[in-house]
Amino acid sequence: MSEVPVRCRFAPAPSGSLHVGNVRSALFSWLFARHQGGTFVLRVEDTDASRVTEEAVAGVLEDLRWLGLDHDEGPDVGGPHEPYRQSQRLEIYREHADRLLAQGDAYHCYCTGEELEQRRKAAMAAGQAPGYDGHCRALTPEQVAAFDAERRASVVRFRMPDREWVVDDIVKGEVRFAPGQLRDFVLVRSDGSPVFLLAVAVDDLLMGITHVVRGDDLLASAPRNAAVIEALGGTPPRYAHVPQVLGPDRQPLSKRHGSTSVESFREQGFLPEALVNYLALLGWSPGDDREVLSRDDLIEAFDLERVSSNPAAFDTEKLTWLNNRYIRSLDDDELGARCLHFLTEEGLMPDPPTLRAAMPIVKERMKTLTEAPALLRFLFTDDLELNEKAAGLIAKAPDGYLGRVADALEAVEPWTAETITAELDALAGRESLSRTKAFQPVRAAVTGSNVSPPLPESLDLLGRDRTTERLRDAG
Ligand code: GLU
Ligand code: ZN
Repeated sequence: MSEVPVRCRFAPAPSGSLHVGNVRSALFSWLFARHQGGTFVLRVEDTDASRVTEEAVAGVLEDLRWLGLDHDEGPDVGGPHEPYRQSQRLEIYREHADRLLAQGDAYHCYCTGEELEQRRKAAMAAGQAPGYDGHCRALTPEQVAAFDAERRASVVRFRMPDREWVVDDIVKGEVRFAPGQLRDFVLVRSDGSPVFLLAVAVDDLLMGITHVVRGDDLLASAPRNAAVIEALGGTPPRYAHVPQVLGPDRQPLSKRHGSTSVESFREQGFLPEALVNYLALLGWSPGDDREVLSRDDLIEAFDLERVSSNPAAFDTEKLTWLNNRYIRSLDDDELGARCLHFLTEEGLMPDPPTLRAAMPIVKERMKTLTEAPALLRFLFTDDLELNEKAAGLIAKAPDGYLGRVADALEAVEPWTAETITAELDALAGRESLSRTKAFQPVRAAVTGSNVSPPLPESLDLLGRDRTTERLRDAG
């Protein structure tokens, strides 16, 4: 354990359900904090009021709750560094911007958008790198007075110390920024609103964040964040920039590739345990060949050093495989409870004992919870529609066969999967049918489908009366 207690944060700018790439960064931050026995802070970066809705904020909280990534401090649970929503910290950013101005670490820049654009073009034409040229760094008091008299709008710019910056990143290693590469950047817009480079630095400083784990799209922000923190007399946190998650075509994972939000995975019947396990292995490994790791296993094994600096591609097949593993590992009560939502969504109203009793016959084959309604419909409604293949199977059955099955099953005592199997096999023998040929029309008549959980177990659950009634109706 490190000497200073570890404090990590997740700082989403909510815009709907979280993107899995973003969640993966949050997960690594959370795992690191938990492994170190540290603190995990949720900070909501909602200064862009035009984009952030209350629903989006609630969505973030719900996604994290569902995934089990709990936070020790945050807008909903409070903590010693309240408030945890940036929109409620504007006064704090203003004070710090004023301090940087007073110290000379920031200055007012009066350049208009047009002026900046003209000079940018000129720089490009002259073969120089674009970027702010320091025009207002050394305005005289007279020039400032003249602009103010004109009521010219100004932004507050940070005076970026012109030297080499080195970020000693835990994942990326030493990342160097040459002198002149990082230009003076805007801290406060002309309308007085803070830019996230200011807000993130001030918050990481005031909230005592020791490790920033985030996506590597923010790598170039790190020296800027660090410079602001240093100018405010603080020590920058350690940074760990995690590579992006890619799609199978190795382009950044986006809607084009299908689901990307936590909500969409939830709706597709993935378990949070499986998604967390899968995302943890996306760019990290425990250093041995384990692939199924519980939350506690992950916390125990996690370290940032073994996070790969190369991007990893999302593999839905592997996630699906893991999902089935987790489905099989749940006990019947728990699995039933998880299936319930998907069944009721399809208009099925299962009674809890039957639902629990049905779990053993579906859990092996169910890859996602969304498969539950199709597998179990026959049990929770008598209003079955035969699918086309089922109708074909019934049509191909020998004349009067389903009626004879019903007769045979009337006599089975006791009504169990074993006795049902024995009876169906005996009848198949008398009819000179293979087991497949004998079972298929029965399955079709009783479940309405050509695919179902194992037949005798299905009939056992359905009960004798409903079984024979369906056979006679179809026969
Ligand atoms: N709010 C930023 C985002 O959602 C993250 C800032 C940070 O982690 O430093 O991309
Ligand atoms: Zn300027």
